Amino acid sequence: MNKIINYKNIYRVTIIIIVTVLFLILVYKFSIFYMLIPFFFYTSFTIWGVFSIDSQFYTHVICNFDTENEIALTFDDGPNPETTEKILDILKYHQIKASFFCIGTQIEKYPEIFQRIVNEKHTIGNHTWSHHNFFAFLSYKKVLQEIVKTNAYIYKYTNKSTILFRPPVGILNPIIAKVCKNMNLKIIGWNLRSLDTVKSKSKVLMRLSKVKAGDVVLLHDNRQSTPEILEKFIGIIAEIKLKCTDFNEIVN
Ligand SMILES: [Zn+2]
Repeated sequence: MNKIINYKNIYRVTIIIIVTVLFLILVYKFSIFYMLIPFFFYTSFTIWGVFSIDSQFYTHVICNFDTENEIALTFDDGPNPETTEKILDILKYHQIKASFFCIGTQIEKYPEIFQRIVNEKHTIGNHTWSHHNFFAFLSYKKVLQEIVKTNAYIYKYTNKSTILFRPPVGILNPIIAKVCKNMNLKIIGWNLRSLDTVKSKSKVLMRLSKVKAGDVVLLHDNRQSTPEILEKFIGIIAEIKLKCTDFNEIVN
């Protein structure tokens, strides 16, 4: 991490501001409300860092990669009984390898579908056990459990534990960053978010049409609309002569 605006630096600057404000309050009788300055300074940066996966604020996150003509397709939140196999069929037909960031509870529920993703040589990543709504508020121990349990299930079907991790909704904080560091996990983000969970098919395709070499594209394999979007998107990338790769290739 070599960005100047990172968690450690913001923490240090906050301490300096606190000391300065305290000095002004005690010596020059400034109002106590000046203490709000370091408070707002610190909270605004830390909240921005939590919600901006590409900010590299808490730790290094892979959001794109160096290449002349490749992109990485990534699918989150599966395996799903309605959609994942349709996506696998499309990828197989076009001979494309993608990366699937799977939820542990979904692997437990649909082991055959998960096994098919593995058998068809796509990359598998860890997307936590429960995709907890308040993942950013979990303790170190809970975050660790979420990741370790999912890796155990991934190991059961692949004989390998993945080093790739994508936090739910792309949320990061010092605890999640620390767990990833201690487990030697590579955090995978994105730089082209399809918004397939909230936008209409045409709007998603409009966003995806801006794709360029080196992009990491975020899609979800638990959405009914994703197979149709994927089919059209493959047409778009073929037209502009881009190829797809997966994270086993990128990180090696
Ligand atoms: Zn997710």
